[in-house]
Amino acid sequence: MIGVFGGTFDPVHYGHLRSALEVKDRFDLTEIRLIPSAQPPHREQPSVTAESRLKMLALAIEGQPDLKIDDRELKRSGPSYMVDTLKSIRDESATQPLLLFIGSDAFNQLTTWHEWQALFNYAHIVVLTRPNYEAQALNAFFVAHLATDSAELAEAPAGKLYFQPVRQLDISATAIREMIAQKKNPGFLLPDKVLTYIRQHQLYLR
Ligand code: ATP
Repeated sequence: MIGVFGGTFDPVHYGHLRSALEVKDRFDLTEIRLIPSAQPPHREQPSVTAESRLKMLALAIEGQPDLKIDDRELKRSGPSYMVDTLKSIRDESATQPLLLFIGSDAFNQLTTWHEWQALFNYAHIVVLTRPNYEAQALNAFFVAHLATDSAELAEAPAGKLYFQPVRQLDISATAIREMIAQKKNPGFLLPDKVLTYIRQHQLYLR
């Protein structure tokens, strides 16, 4: 099984990284790919360039062979729709189960995503529980796709919804950006190498 973890990573922090490592082990994934979004369709545009976000991601995973970066969304023009990303990964691997990991905050917005129901044609969706965000009540579509046993994910390439608790780290990129803008020190919320890069390039100062 391959895992996909999309995000703006503006900047990447230990909430992302720890969750990615935990699910790699939990689901015994052959690979977990962090996929930075070029133009996230559902939110304000990132405050730093895609190149900088990609560079920070690369610094963050240095020395961690369990984590990989997939930069296909940065190579496409237009909005970074997850359904297009999953489709292109699926084209490379027809039958392998594909797991798309999203936090519960992202899950609560899922029905606003472009062709959200089609996501399930290409991947299973695994919702990671996240501090301060309760998952929304399940609509009939979600109930119909719900798996209560993770073994069901290995039995089909796509189509299931599963909820997975992960270690609760109350860290968000928004809070990190605000700390930097207020000249506070976000150390230990994200890798030192990423913080050094942010300081060198004077990112997020306002
Ligand atoms: P922002 O505060 O700018 O919205 P973020 O910290 O939520 O950023 P994103 O890059 O938007 O980070 O998130 C990418 C994915 O990681 C989303 O699915 C999100 O739910 C998840 N995620 C982010 N932070 C955590 C965390 N602390 N624990 C678990 N999942 C997280």
